[in-house]
Amino acid sequence: MSDKDKDNQPPTPEEMQKTLKDLFDKMGSGMSMPFGSFVDEQRGEPEDDEPEIVQTKEIDSIHEFDLKPREVKSHLDRYVIRQDDAKKALSIAVCDHYNHAKHFKALEDEHGEGADTLEYQKQNVMVVGPTGVGKTYLIKHIAELIGVPFVKADATKFSETGYVGGDVDDLVRELVRKADGNVDLAEYGIIYIDEIDKLASKGGGSFGKDVSGRGVQTTLLKLMEETEVPVSNPMDMKGQMMSMISGGGSKQPTKENINTRNILFIVSGAFSGLDKIVSKRVQSTPIGFQTEEREEVVDSELFKKVETQDFIDFGFEAEFIGRLPVRVVCEKLEKKDFVSIMKFSEGSILRQYEREFEAYGIHAKFKDSAIEKVAEFAEKENTGARALMTVLAKILRDFKFELPGTSITELIIDADLIENHDSVIEKYRKEGLKVNLNKVKLEIDSFTQEFNSKHGMTMEFDEEAVTTLAELSSLQGRSVLQICKSKFKDYQFGLKLIHGNTGVNEFTLTKEAVEDADKFLSNMLVQSYDAAKESKNSSAENITE
Ligand code: ADP
Repeated sequence: MSDKDKDNQPPTPEEMQKTLKDLFDKMGSGMSMPFGSFVDEQRGEPEDDEPEIVQTKEIDSIHEFDLKPREVKSHLDRYVIRQDDAKKALSIAVCDHYNHAKHFKALEDEHGEGADTLEYQKQNVMVVGPTGVGKTYLIKHIAELIGVPFVKADATKFSETGYVGGDVDDLVRELVRKADGNVDLAEYGIIYIDEIDKLASKGGGSFGKDVSGRGVQTTLLKLMEETEVPVSNPMDMKGQMMSMISGGGSKQPTKENINTRNILFIVSGAFSGLDKIVSKRVQSTPIGFQTEEREEVVDSELFKKVETQDFIDFGFEAEFIGRLPVRVVCEKLEKKDFVSIMKFSEGSILRQYEREFEAYGIHAKFKDSAIEKVAEFAEKENTGARALMTVLAKILRDFKFELPGTSITELIIDADLIENHDSVIEKYRKEGLKVNLNKVKLEIDSFTQEFNSKHGMTMEFDEEAVTTLAELSSLQGRSVLQICKSKFKDYQFGLKLIHGNTGVNEFTLTKEAVEDADKFLSNMLVQSYDAAKESKNSSAENITE
C-alpha cells in the first residue's frame, strides 16, 4: 500500500484512541472539571491526572475492622497534643461507624438486599474549634489508621450549584481518586468539610444573594444521608470520552455509582458568635433552675452546653444539624501546648527541620530555651500550631541559606540564636569559613609566589585580608585565585613606584586592600610620595647644615 493509499484509510480504533489521548493530554486540566478544586492542605495541590480506575478489590480494612475507641485514641495521642474530648468523641464515632459498616456488609453478603432494613443513624461529626488546633490532623490520622481515603474541602468554596469549578458530588469522586480508583473502598471514606459555619444563613456567612448557604446545606444533606454519585462526572468531557474510548477493557470499574451511605462526614468551623447564643440561653434558664451565683463560663465549658437549637439559631437548617449528631470541641492552644507539640508530637515540625538540616550534613539541635521562645512567638500569631511553621521558618531561614556548603556540622538552636540572630549567624559564617581557610591560603600563596617572582618583590596578605578574601569567594562563587588576579592585576606598577620612592620592596596587603584595591594602592602611593618628599627635604637640610 502506498503512503497515499495509507493516508486515505480510516484510522484504526487504536490510532483514534491514541490521537484522542494525545489531544486530551495536550489540553491538560482545561478539559477536566473537578479535581483541581480540592486542595488537600496536608498534601498540596492534587495532580491533574485522572484516577486510574482499577478493578475493585476486597476492602480488608473494613471487613477486618477491629479497633477499640481506646486504641484509636492512643494512636491519636502519639501525634495530637491536647484535644482529649475531641479525640475521645471522634474515636467512639469512628469505631461505631466502621463497626456498623462491617456489620452491614456482613449482613448484605448474607442476606443481600435485606440488610437495608437495618436501623442506623450515621455518626457524622461536627467539630467546633479555631484554626490550627489539630482538626484536620486528627482526621487525617484517623483515616490513615483505619486505611480509608480522606478528602478535605472548604465550605466557602461551595455554591448552591456545586463546588467552585465543579460539583459537590466531586467530593465523593475525589474519594475514589484517593482510593486509587477503588470504588468499594471509597464508599467507606471520610469527607471533611472545614469552615462549615460559613454556610449558616444568619451567621455572617460569605454568601452573596445568588448563592445561598441554605441551598448548599440541602445539597450536602443528600450526600450525608444516602445517595448514588456517578463515578464519572457527567460534566467532565475528558473523563467521559476517555472512558468511552478505553473500550470496556479490564480497567473499567465494576461499579458505575458510588453509594454515600457509609461515607463518614466530619464538618468543622470556628463558629464565632455561637458562644453568645449559648450563653444567652444558658443564662436565661427558667427561674428555679438558676443557681445563686452566676456561672463563669469559659469557651470549652460553654461548648459542652451547645444544643441543636443553638446551631439552628446560628443559621443552620434543622435537618442539616440533625445529620451531625456527634459534636466535639477542639480547644484553643496555648504556649505550653506549643511546647508539647514541638517536644512530644511524633509529627513535630522540629523533626522536619532536623531532617532538612541533616540533608546538608548539619546536625540541628533544638534546645529548650529556643522551644520556649518559639512557643511564645507562635502564641502571639493567633493561628494555632500553624504559627510554629511561620515562626521557625523566619528564625531559621538565614541559617538554612548560609550554612549548607560550609564546614559547619552542628547547629545549636537556643534562645541566644533567636535573640541575637545577626551575631550568631555571623559567628557560624566565620566558623564555616575557617576550615576552608587552608585551601584559601594555598590559593593566595600560589598567587603571591607567581606575582613576587615575576615582579621581583614580596607581596603578602595579613590574616584579616585572608578571611575577607575567603568571604568574598563564597559570596561571589569565584575562586580566591580568580579574585586576586583580577583585583591586583596592575598592582606591580604602583608597587614599583612606591619602591622607587621609598626603597621598600615588601608589601603587606590588608582587609582594606581586598575591599578597595585601587583606593588602598593610591593611598600607599600618596604616602610614598610624601615620604620621598620628606626624605628629600631632610637630606637637603643635612647638606645645608
Ligand atoms: P486545623 O485545626 O485548622 O484543621 P491542622 O490540623 O491543619 O489545623 O493543623 C496544622 C498543623 O499544625 C498540623 O499539620 C500539625 O502539624 C500541627 N498541629 C495543630 N494542632 C496540633 C495538635 N493539637 N497537636 C499536634 N500538632 C498540631
